[in-house]
Amino acid sequence: MIILKTAKELAIMRESGIITANAIKTAEKYCKPGYTTKQIAAKIEEYLTSKGAVPSFLGYRGFTGVACISVNDEVIHGIPGARRLNEGDIVSVDIGSMYKGYHTDSSYTFKVGTVDPKIEKLLKTTKKCLHEAIAKSKIGNRVGDISHTVQTIAEKSGFGVVRDYVGHGIGKNLHESPDIPNFGAAGRGARLMAGMTMAIEPMINAGSEKVFRENDGWTIKTMDGSVSAHFEHTVAITHDGPVILTSLE
Ligand code: MG
Ligand code: MG
Repeated sequence: MIILKTAKELAIMRESGIITANAIKTAEKYCKPGYTTKQIAAKIEEYLTSKGAVPSFLGYRGFTGVACISVNDEVIHGIPGARRLNEGDIVSVDIGSMYKGYHTDSSYTFKVGTVDPKIEKLLKTTKKCLHEAIAKSKIGNRVGDISHTVQTIAEKSGFGVVRDYVGHGIGKNLHESPDIPNFGAAGRGARLMAGMTMAIEPMINAGSEKVFRENDGWTIKTMDGSVSAHFEHTVAITHDGPVILTSLE
């Protein structure tokens, strides 16, 4: 069942979204050579706590990190740890935070120093997938219009669209209906209605779309070792069009 939010609930989710967005911005400052992913997570926790927000992922189905931090060929669900960032890496910082009972969820993939031109293209394309998908998040469109937009843009550039993990509705629960796949046919799936709140999150690989789960039980990596990008925003469907709840603008 899709849970529609009232204007009052959307206002709270916007507050939550600004906190999540600022936590991402805080993390960005430490996505530099020499920092460990655990050090970045500590800065995120410090920020969220200072705002009275709770990290959504900590303890979720037993996840031990404050946020998911995934480097290079790690797609999603990286557990913060001793891994040190190097010049030329890319690092995906995925943060969920709960504030006044409502979750928001956002991810950015940051460059660590200068990266390969092919990686630049992957980042630019994945960001484009997200923003074009958000533009489709309008009353009367369907989930498939979002899915199809992401898939078309990514595959046109020769990149692989991850099939095994998808976006989701979000609100009082971190994961709500409907699923928001990054692939599929336009004009299919649930119809978008005012009050829907969704985490739209293209996960795009430089190579094949195939992924596997590491022995740690969490980290998802590309099967072929190619790098992967992940951009995510929490978006509300409104009568005035899509509103990015996790934007700082
Ligand atoms: Mg996320
Ligand atoms: Mg998400």
